[in-house]
Amino acid sequence: MAKTSPLECVEVETAPISRFERLLDEDIRSELDQTMAGLADLMRGHVIWNVNSTARGGGVAELLASLIPYSRGAGIDERWAVIEGTPEFFHVTKKLHVLLHGVAADGETLTEDDRREYEAATAKNAAALLDEVRPDDVVILHDPQTAGLIPRLRDRGIRVVWRSHIGVDTPGEVVRRAWAFLLPYVGGADALVFSRRTYAWDGLERSRVEIIPPCIDPFAAKNRDMSELEVSKVLEQASLPNRGPMVLQVSRWDRLKDPAGVMEAFARHVAPRAGALLVLAGPAVMSVTDDPEQPQVLEEVMSQCGRMPDAVREAIVVAQLPMDDVERNALTVNALQRRADVVVQKSIAEGFGLTVAEAMWKGKPVVASRVGGIEDQVEHGKSGVLVDDPHDLRTFGESVVSLLGDPEKSADLGHEARRTVARKFITPCHLIAQGRLILDLLRT
Ligand code: UDP
Repeated sequence: MAKTSPLECVEVETAPISRFERLLDEDIRSELDQTMAGLADLMRGHVIWNVNSTARGGGVAELLASLIPYSRGAGIDERWAVIEGTPEFFHVTKKLHVLLHGVAADGETLTEDDRREYEAATAKNAAALLDEVRPDDVVILHDPQTAGLIPRLRDRGIRVVWRSHIGVDTPGEVVRRAWAFLLPYVGGADALVFSRRTYAWDGLERSRVEIIPPCIDPFAAKNRDMSELEVSKVLEQASLPNRGPMVLQVSRWDRLKDPAGVMEAFARHVAPRAGALLVLAGPAVMSVTDDPEQPQVLEEVMSQCGRMPDAVREAIVVAQLPMDDVERNALTVNALQRRADVVVQKSIAEGFGLTVAEAMWKGKPVVASRVGGIEDQVEHGKSGVLVDDPHDLRTFGESVVSLLGDPEKSADLGHEARRTVARKFITPCHLIAQGRLILDLLRT
């Protein structure tokens, strides 16, 4: 029979889970081995399908690219397919995405035409997928773009997990209306996965909701081990400072990351009391970018820096990291995080905050605002320092100064930080959580 339409299948490599052995505590190591072996056994002859809307770019593609090779390495036939759609379909899903974040323009809403467009595209993709999927396969659908496939797969008796990678802590009316658009599809899934408890929608059957936080890949260029010599070389090549003490924030140029607040707190409360350098690093901003706010925020940061007294200005580096070579960019971030004495994330709001996990993994003491997913990662006083009010410059600055002056405390916090990430937020943790979820589904 001719195929309904081509679904792009993304090539994925195979990687051995044994490479994590030396990074894991004994209990997690054996949990990983058991879960993966159990899953390989139950899924023999069947496939775990991941379906999302893009093969490249964005956090979900990055997550899949880093996870699937390990399942394959453990003998599980896990695959990755990408849906196709017309520009009109992607216009609707973009609108949906924005509404789910509650940031729609006044009165913007999803119409019946939008629903028709959405259903037409998802029906085509479901038909194409059903050409490939066998009855005892499991399908993991990622994000709102794919939710429309759920009912058609369920009608054929396929087990379906729907995974949302986005969410807001306090949903308003706009967000709830976007949920209402998706609920007819999502309600039928066997399991619903969210990144944080607060992201799970009201009105979903609680017993089907699972929480799986994002994870970082310890072997990726962003996080892999680096010798001090390599750190120095990478920083020199990028013309970045290679001396300390260094306070670092890595973020997109976004007001919610509050680079202006970091600089102000540094000028008022850190620079007068510690001879430290502040590095604010973010992506190089092109004149043409898909995020029109970034150049503006960067411009404000630069001019704010220019107005500082000479001594303070000389202690601040606003670093634009080139994005054309993704690997080089990741290595530069890695080197900066390793070179820093204190890593800060003074966000006003935060989804998860991968930069926090990345710094903690490198054993760094973190000073961060107690917002969003940062609170899931840092235990105040144990694995970092949390500042309750993200606008409190004094507490923020004083926390930084106190860590700069106390290497022992910094080392203790950093040690505990790395342990936390090793137990909760690296690739194996995700493999275990998702593996268990699928095992539960298969056994019921
Ligand atoms: N990042 C990067 N280069 C930059 C700035 C940020 O690679 O110049 C990375 C950073 O290391 C992290 C991600 O972008 O992995 C940002 O994720 P996070 O969850 O911290 O914030 P988001 O940008 O998703 O709000």
